[in-house]
Amino acid sequence: MGMGGTPILLFEEGTKREQGKDAQYDNIRAAMTVADAVKSTLGPRGMDKMMISSAGDVIITNDGITILKEMDVQHPAARMMVEVARTLDEEAGDGTTTAAVLAGELLKKAIGLIDSNIHPTVIASGYRMASERAIEVLGTLGIATATDDTAALSKVAMTAMMSKAVTGSREHLADLAVKAVGAVAEVVGNRRSVDLGNIQIVKRQGGSMESSELVQGVILDRGPALRSMPKAVKDAKIALLSSALEVRKTEVSAEIKITETSQRRAFLEEEEASLRRMAGRLRRAGANVVISQKAIDDRIQNILVKEGVVAVQNVKAPDLEKLSKATGANIVDRPSELEPGDLGSARSVEARKVEDGELTFVTGCKDPKAVALLLRGGTAHVVDEVDRSLDDALNVVRLAVEDGQAVTGGGSTAVELSMRLRDYADSVGGREQMVVSAFADALEVVPATLAENAGLDPIDMLVELRNAHQGGKVNVGVNLLTGKASDMRRENVLEPMRANRQIISSAAEAAIMIIRIDDVISAKGSPRQESIGPE
Ligand code: ADP
Ligand code: MG
Repeated sequence: MGMGGTPILLFEEGTKREQGKDAQYDNIRAAMTVADAVKSTLGPRGMDKMMISSAGDVIITNDGITILKEMDVQHPAARMMVEVARTLDEEAGDGTTTAAVLAGELLKKAIGLIDSNIHPTVIASGYRMASERAIEVLGTLGIATATDDTAALSKVAMTAMMSKAVTGSREHLADLAVKAVGAVAEVVGNRRSVDLGNIQIVKRQGGSMESSELVQGVILDRGPALRSMPKAVKDAKIALLSSALEVRKTEVSAEIKITETSQRRAFLEEEEASLRRMAGRLRRAGANVVISQKAIDDRIQNILVKEGVVAVQNVKAPDLEKLSKATGANIVDRPSELEPGDLGSARSVEARKVEDGELTFVTGCKDPKAVALLLRGGTAHVVDEVDRSLDDALNVVRLAVEDGQAVTGGGSTAVELSMRLRDYADSVGGREQMVVSAFADALEVVPATLAENAGLDPIDMLVELRNAHQGGKVNVGVNLLTGKASDMRRENVLEPMRANRQIISSAAEAAIMIIRIDDVISAKGSPRQESIGPE
């Protein structure tokens, strides 16, 4: 370097630099390793991974994002793959494994292109052209999923849950997801919008998955404070309180020194009077249900129970907020601030014993959008799997409702896009033609992997699929039951279009970003230096 003089030092001593093809290969290989790690879990016939943390905790899962998060990937290029999965999880709630696998395949094809002396810049622009075209074509493959088309929406939910351990209850859980999303869907302008945050999820161990249910209202994870309180109140007038229902020190004269019996009695009397005032305040406002974020003094409970009032204490702040929204009640700090106008209303407040604990169901609320899902399952692990399954199902149904569009799965859409991209490549010409073709080939990794994971021959399957698609059968994909290619629309394998769009754009973006790096300059002691190791 330089012109024969002393070399020019740009970086601090100890900085490591890797350039050109070395840097490219190293990054690409690292990212591909991550993709390979999740590949065998793709699809309903995918395998599970057992992850053991440094603390010895064991997780068994086939959930792409969970595996990638747990892997604690250090290599910066490899971490970009984890980011791809994370993006999918955030934007679509599903498709995490597919996105990582597709990105890995795009990188694998890129190595071939670099080896044939195609410049990374050309690969990057070709991949970009291909992904844009693929997304354009994807837009023409939509199958309508209207909000009231519960049958189609249920298929979308079932497909997302195919790789979860909820067999047998899948239909029931799909039905719950469709109904819950339907209940919270709103029309904003001329768009439908679904905020899943409006769906309350309550988990209860015990019972079957099948006994999971949708509740039109809010569920509190506890029952009334006293067993002798009414189990059910109709036409509930609900007071919501954010602080404890007890005597505060400041409410009794500060100077009282409890030295003598008479003074002690005076003190207690004053306390009693104060408690009665609070209970009186609640009654005068018209409350027959009192729900508090903090504790309720036993003596107040005893006064309330005599008046037939239901009191629930130590309710979580977010649940209080939900109740406020659902019933129209204002949350007040203490009874002395309570006005009749602050009360909320619900047709029914009912305590029910579910397994070894009570739950309170507040139903028939003012706000019809208040819905809750009570998830059940025999063991804690099962309830958690129900929770994860329903989370995927709610997300995909949300996308299908918001966009009103689904596409067929089982690799069918990938094969169709692949075929259309090959036609497009011919029109591109030049070096980019090879790149667009490589992108088209990479898309076939989806059906190939689904087949492979099911113990089928991926090459035979691809031949079968290509033939079908060339014959205009747009929806033919891998039928995992029969081991043959078949129409995924008939098999009810539907996915939201948006998840597919996001898979293509995120995978392409990550691949492009990694390919374009030709110089890695890492500071002394950076994780990257450690992952490369000493020279
Ligand atoms: P991801 O993390 O990408 O969602 P999954 O393990 O959930 O990965 O697998 C999703 C893939 O499985 C999709 O390509 C989907 O179309 C496919 N799939 C789901 N159900 C079926 C089915 N019944 N037949 C064929 N393919 C299916
Ligand atoms: Mg999935």
